[in-house]
Amino acid sequence: MAETADAAVLTGPRNFEFREFGLPDIAPDEGVLRVEAAGLCGTDYEQYTGHLAGTPWDITPIIPGHEIMGWIDRVGPEAAKRWGAKEGDRVVVESIIPCGHCFQCAIGKTTLCESNLGYGLYASTEKAPGLWGGYASHMYLHPNTLVHKVSDDIPRDVLSLFNPLSNGVRWAYEAPNTQMGEIVVIEGPGQRGLLCVVAAREAGAGTVIVTGTADDAHRLELARQLGADITIDVDADNPVERVMQATGGRGADVVVEVSAGATQPIVDAVDMVRRGGRIVLAGLKSFKPVGNLITDKIVINEIQLIGLLSAGWVSIERSLDILKRRGGELQPLCSHMFPLEETDTAVRALGREVDDGNEVVHIALDVAG
Ligand SMILES: [Zn+2]
Ligand SMILES: [Zn+2]
Repeated sequence: MAETADAAVLTGPRNFEFREFGLPDIAPDEGVLRVEAAGLCGTDYEQYTGHLAGTPWDITPIIPGHEIMGWIDRVGPEAAKRWGAKEGDRVVVESIIPCGHCFQCAIGKTTLCESNLGYGLYASTEKAPGLWGGYASHMYLHPNTLVHKVSDDIPRDVLSLFNPLSNGVRWAYEAPNTQMGEIVVIEGPGQRGLLCVVAAREAGAGTVIVTGTADDAHRLELARQLGADITIDVDADNPVERVMQATGGRGADVVVEVSAGATQPIVDAVDMVRRGGRIVLAGLKSFKPVGNLITDKIVINEIQLIGLLSAGWVSIERSLDILKRRGGELQPLCSHMFPLEETDTAVRALGREVDDGNEVVHIALDVAG
């Protein structure tokens, strides 16, 4: 067994340093994970470029990586009992470490835990034992960590979709309570939007419609492969008119807004959802106001607006079940894997700064190699 860990440490905007850490001596209720892979999302890129300044996640030096999977490397006897896991078991790790005692934990909303502790975004390397992120060969497992056991036969790249897929499950299925036969519109065909297509299909949606821009042609094609019935290029067509046509003038039952940056899709969502329908807002807009939103439409049409950021235990279990049954279908989304040594390239590829001719959809660091 290794005695040291290698990690990519983000010391400031756009600067990674590789450092060696001693593996911690663990207490009976702690553990160490041998990292297999870490998935990347937009948050990783914002962390890298320094765009998390002003948020609680503006922390350096830090080992990023909050979409974590690996094998239990060492585990104390109490932790083994608590997690139902032994050395060698393959697991995915929830990024938030709930305190168990704050108001949000007490009412069961552990993803909103007030302690702000977790992996990849929450703790500097200066907080012992330093190994708080997935961009590393090993990661410390705090006693309150939530781990999900997974089977060994899900391919590495496919399993690295578990975190964004769990978001899709919560955003397009669980939170809007999507029913069989309903019409679901997903605005934004990024990694999460595409996984919302998968989740809406799992919920039994009757019609799935995905909107994107002219630049999204490849991703809209992937959306159709994953089961979207209709895709709309908003640069060529008016998405509200197209959705109204497709729904006989009634509007969609559910609209999931998961585009990054643009605010017009929020205004469109209000105009394309049916009376009494549900809108999920999950795309971040860099704190821009939504200029021409008329809230009277929300009141008069009794539209439910649901803001969502992450996903917890049940959504992750559902996502793991989907990956087990139909992970192969999702393989085309896994566009890039980079070794730990190429962390900088991986994060820049995520931000479309590196063009290798392959369209970026989902990127993961293949740590185990
Ligand atoms: Zn993420
Ligand atoms: Zn808490």
